[in-house]
Amino acid sequence: MLCEEAHKLGAKTIVLDPSKDAPAFKVSDEHICATFDDFEALEDLCKRADVITYEFENVRSDYLIDLENKYNIKQGFKPLFDGQDRIREKTNANNHGLKTAKFFDVTTLDDAMNAIKELGYPCLYKTRTLGYDGHGQVLLKSEADIKKLDEFLGGPGIIEEFIKFDYEASIVMVSDGKNVINFPIGRNIHKNGILDLTIVPSGMPKSLEDEMIKKSKNFMLECGYKGILAIEYFIKGNEFYFNEMAPRPHNSGHYTIEGCNTNQFRELDKYLLDLPMEEPKLLHPTIMKNILGQDVKDYEAYRKIPFAFIHDYGKSENRINRKMGHITFTNINEEEYNKYKSEVLK
Ligand code: AMP
Repeated sequence: MLCEEAHKLGAKTIVLDPSKDAPAFKVSDEHICATFDDFEALEDLCKRADVITYEFENVRSDYLIDLENKYNIKQGFKPLFDGQDRIREKTNANNHGLKTAKFFDVTTLDDAMNAIKELGYPCLYKTRTLGYDGHGQVLLKSEADIKKLDEFLGGPGIIEEFIKFDYEASIVMVSDGKNVINFPIGRNIHKNGILDLTIVPSGMPKSLEDEMIKKSKNFMLECGYKGILAIEYFIKGNEFYFNEMAPRPHNSGHYTIEGCNTNQFRELDKYLLDLPMEEPKLLHPTIMKNILGQDVKDYEAYRKIPFAFIHDYGKSENRINRKMGHITFTNINEEEYNKYKSEVLK
């Protein structure tokens, strides 16, 4: 999607991906098939491009630091590095005005027991690094769940407060270092720790949305992050808690392609190409539905809902819970969506 938008701005693209049938290879002008920790291949990519960005969060930061000194990696290693470790990420959020769930550094069983003593049940264990979509997480509801930590203890982790949130929301922003633009906040519904729906407008009180936008923009500017940044929040009453950030186009921002006058990919590309940013506006109420491996059979049914825009990523292997595509429905609210869904999926 980033390549497709780059082409609309007259740019050419080159992509590095470890999979020989990576969907991005079908749309990019050139590609390099190599692992994300192949330094020579990364350097080759840098040499062949005028400007470089990343869509994968676990590129080694030490490699990026080396490469950043020589090549135009416009977002830099910093936002990626800050987000690669949950303790660094949450401490950084706290230091720049964003509240998080209480958390404790946990490596040993003693650490875990101390954290649980402070937080009580339920609480959540998460690996400090490489976690995504609920992977590397254990919900601790009672002492009986402590044995589930066996496979993780010894490695770096955290135990954090379980927030009984009312709902989840996220914001996607793009900054040139002086100004920040933001896409309308989406309300997110997860199933089994994986994003299922993004609903816009979010339905949040306007004052709370305004505060979230203000604090998120301040955070981005204070941290000196440039390019794109997505932040996921838990909302409970009038409070919002930073959960995670990602310095790349975000799944919850996919709705912007059909939902807004400009989209997250286009605005990131414009930043990379030194073009002026455009203030995003919502064109119509919009819902984004992720299509996981087990949902692919339902494309036909979903297509019957009016204003359905299907994005099939063309991944060759279909696996349960793998994100295979998404559908954006425009001119629709949650109630209408649920009604249509129950009709077409009967
Ligand atoms: P994460 O990998 O941190 O994004 O977590 C995946 C999902 O698990 C989130 O989107 C939430 O639905 C849920 N979750 C994560 N952390 C917490 C928490 N501290 N309290 C309640 N739910 C959580």
